[in-house]
Amino acid sequence: MNNKTIRSIKGTQDILPEESIKWQSLENEIRKITSHYGYEEIRTPAFEQTKLFSRGVGEETDIVSKEMYSWTDQGGENLTLKPELTASVARAYIQHNLGLVSPVNKLYYIDALFRRERPQKGRYRQFHQFGVEAFGSEHPEIDAEVIALAISIFYSVGLEELQLNINSIGSPECRKNYRIALQEFLKPHFSNLSETSQKRFNNNPLRILDTKAPHEINILNDAPIISNYWTDEDETHFKKVIEYLDILEIKYQLMPRLVRGLDYYTRTTFEITSSNLGAQDAICGGGRYDGLVEMLGGKPTPGIGFAAGMERLLLAIKNNQSKKNKVQIYIVGLGDNARGTVIKLAEELRQQNIATEFDVLRRSLKAQLREANKMDVSYAIIIGDKELESNQLELKNFSTGDQQKIELNKIVDHMNSLSF
Ligand code: ATP
Ligand code: MG
Repeated sequence: MNNKTIRSIKGTQDILPEESIKWQSLENEIRKITSHYGYEEIRTPAFEQTKLFSRGVGEETDIVSKEMYSWTDQGGENLTLKPELTASVARAYIQHNLGLVSPVNKLYYIDALFRRERPQKGRYRQFHQFGVEAFGSEHPEIDAEVIALAISIFYSVGLEELQLNINSIGSPECRKNYRIALQEFLKPHFSNLSETSQKRFNNNPLRILDTKAPHEINILNDAPIISNYWTDEDETHFKKVIEYLDILEIKYQLMPRLVRGLDYYTRTTFEITSSNLGAQDAICGGGRYDGLVEMLGGKPTPGIGFAAGMERLLLAIKNNQSKKNKVQIYIVGLGDNARGTVIKLAEELRQQNIATEFDVLRRSLKAQLREANKMDVSYAIIIGDKELESNQLELKNFSTGDQQKIELNKIVDHMNSLSF
């Protein structure tokens, strides 16, 4: 490759056929299972107004503060490639009045996202997520359904050793009190906190709980926990979610320190990890966001969802058995006269949903048969001058080695009558 060769952007990936077939089977499984749970697909644009994300995801998050691909277009609009889907889906929900159409809207997506992060295994700048968003119900039944759906998909695609971590971050009222308690607790430690945590102390102290720094984790070991600040309704809601998980025989780990720092996040919050993955072990994050729709200008509407990283899922799925679609018939064409007949016959067989290939390199009989063999076809049809003249094609069964003659105008019916 010389230095004029154009290469893809760092942190982006080409998904070549050998891989894309694994993607397809994962996507098919996701579509199948989400539909069993009554979720329908939503597709939103690749870019949105920047303010949707700064408001909908939050200025203080890593995503908005340092990871967005944003630009001003020729018309002076501030635009951003979507770094996550919940804000876009909530925007679409509001814009199209979906709440009026139906009291509950259960949506799913499979989409490409963009974040300018440091690329590494399981972390890219263009990556993919599938996720669901359920709008309209504040009740714990939907929390349990959303979690069951995630778990069910992960198991059905062959993931092992999953761990569901779950907590409730309560209502805004609970968090207001908790925030004060956390600040009180951290005050004496302020000078020992990292610069980032010091910044978060005032505007978003809950995010300090996300720290990965060992000495901060140490300090936080004695921090107050949010469950002591739940309102009665928060507690009832969470207990019900847990009760339903027990009924569904879904194992979970209670994680009193699992939080989300954004104001519109409420109550149930969860993540699913897999020990099949290394450092980037989070497959999926989710939770309730009862304040989001209202914050984006819609009517107050409860919602809950999750998002799972497709690349990480594929990394975590061992022994992906996806098989290439098999070519069933190879038409061997010999000589100039046969070419038109070959291309026509291939088209007719394909119209009958029979996967058919023919040689486009004008190779010899031997080379074409070798190719057919390599493709592991069921049959080869041989058409040359002799066959054209006698109107009798040569049909070779690759599994038995048998060869027979079939009339040109009967071949499509004949092939149709066979099972492959
Ligand atoms: P992390 O802590 O790994 O950065 P996150 O909190 O940014 O994750 P979310 O925004 O909740 O992740 O996204 C949900 C899922 O999307 C993650 O659990 C992960 O599987 C996947 N994901 C997030 N960022 C990336 C990325 N840059 N490349 C590939 N997958 C990603
Ligand atoms: Mg991240």
